Amino acid sequence: MVERTLAIIKPDAVSHHLVGAIIQRYEQAGLVPVAVKMVRLTKAQAEGFYYVHKQRPFFDSLCSFMSSGPIVVLALESENAIQRYRDLMGATDPAKAAAGTIRKAYGTHIEHNAVHGSDSAESAQFELAYFFSALESPQR
Ligand code: ADP
Ligand code: MG
Repeated sequence: MVERTLAIIKPDAVSHHLVGAIIQRYEQAGLVPVAVKMVRLTKAQAEGFYYVHKQRPFFDSLCSFMSSGPIVVLALESENAIQRYRDLMGATDPAKAAAGTIRKAYGTHIEHNAVHGSDSAESAQFELAYFFSALESPQR
């Protein structure tokens, strides 16, 4: 099934000038960008995005990090985009991520792990709508 997933190039990767390298990984994997923009979240906006994690011990630190600088958000489209992109990202902790994954290559810490990706169809729907209007992510 052709579907869309929400990707974020996190503040650590943007500040390390990895935007181009990471988007190239997406395209080489067949994950086609259908919407792209750079934004800087307020802490409240980061908390809204990550609300499912609000009881976790790392929530406050995560939301501070995600609002610490600009991020690049993308809608990626492909057959099985959600799982395909999870596989390309690798494990949450870069130290445990498999060789060849984006987090292995560019993540430096379990929190500073370079990229975000939706984990289910339900979260993709919420996350795409959090960042993109219908006009900003047109049907191809
Ligand atoms: P993923 O991004 O792989 O889906 P989670 O949804 O579990 O991982 O966590 C969201 C984000 O919170 C992670 O990408 C990471 O930046 C941060 N995070 C997760 N677990 C921890 C942790 N134990 N300590 C610090 N930050 C964490
Ligand atoms: Mg997650």
